[in-house]
Amino acid sequence: MNVVVLLNPAHPDGELLDEAVPHFSALAQGIARGDGIFETARYAGGRVRKLDEHLWRLHRSAGLTGLDIPDDDAWRRAITTAIDAWQPTDSDDVVAGEALVKLLVMRGYAPENVEGYAWIVVSPVPATLRPTAPVKVSLLERGFSSTTAAQAPWLLLGAKTLSYATNMAAIREAQSRGAQDVIFVTSDGLVLEGPTSTVVIKRGDELVTPPNELGVLPGTTQRVLFRAAQRAGWRTSTARLTPDDLRSADAVWLTSSVRLLTQVQYVDDDEVALDDDAHATLQQLFEDAS
Ligand code: PLP
Repeated sequence: MNVVVLLNPAHPDGELLDEAVPHFSALAQGIARGDGIFETARYAGGRVRKLDEHLWRLHRSAGLTGLDIPDDDAWRRAITTAIDAWQPTDSDDVVAGEALVKLLVMRGYAPENVEGYAWIVVSPVPATLRPTAPVKVSLLERGFSSTTAAQAPWLLLGAKTLSYATNMAAIREAQSRGAQDVIFVTSDGLVLEGPTSTVVIKRGDELVTPPNELGVLPGTTQRVLFRAAQRAGWRTSTARLTPDDLRSADAVWLTSSVRLLTQVQYVDDDEVALDDDAHATLQQLFEDAS
C-alpha cells in the first residue's frame, strides 16, 4: 500500500489523503515544469533512517530553488502520521519490513510562488531496488565541466530537484549498453556521481568521494558512512577522481539511501577490484550508524 499525507498550515500534523485520488493540478509549476524538490528516506527497523540528514538536505535544496518549506517539527509530525498509517505489503516483490519515505515539495501555480506544496508518500521498497551482487556501470558524460557548478548556479547542480528525467535517461542508456548503472563524468574527465547514488572508492584504509563543488548532490548515505568509518579508524577524504582512479581503486561503491552500498565490478569493460570484507564491514558500520 501507499500512504499520501499533505502537509500545510491547516494540517500541521499532516492530513491523510486517499492515495487513489490525484492530488495536484497539471497547471502547477511542480508538475508542468518539474519545479520542486524531494528526498527519499528509508524506513527500516521501526524508524526512518538518518532523517536529520534528509531534512538538512531538503532545506539546502529549498534554498537553492527559492522555495519556502515547512519546518522540521512539522515534517517530523507529518512523517509520524504517514508511518502510523502505513501497512507493510506481504509480497516477494518488496523488501520485507521496509518502506520508502518520500518528502516532496512542489512550486504552486505561478513561477514567482515561493510557497511550496508539501507531501509525504510512504510506499513499499521494490525488491529490484536492492541489488546484492556487484554491478557493471557505464561511464557517461554529464554534459558540464568541473567549473560549471560554480559558474552557473541556476543550473541547480547538486540540488535534489524533481527534474530527474535526464538521470533516468542515463540509466536506460547504460542498460542498452549491458550495464546496470551509471557513473557520470564531467566534460573535462572528472568523476561525479551516479544518477541516484554517490561514488565512494577505497584506497588502502582510506575512503574517498568526489567533492560537492563539482556539482554533485551531497549524499546522506556517504556522509553517515564516512562519519561511522572515521570513528572505526578509517581515513576519509574528498578528492577529484578520474576514471583511472576508479580502475585502480581497491574497491568502488555506489551509495544511496534505498540501495545502501553496492559494489562496482566493471566500469564499462574494465574490471574493478572487489573487497567483500570491506563491503561487509562498511555495510554494518552504516547500518549501525543510520
Ligand atoms: N546523487 C544523486 C544524484 C542522487 O539522486 C542520490 C539519491 O537519490 C544520491 C546521490 C545518494 O544520496 P543519498 O545517499 O542521500 O540517498
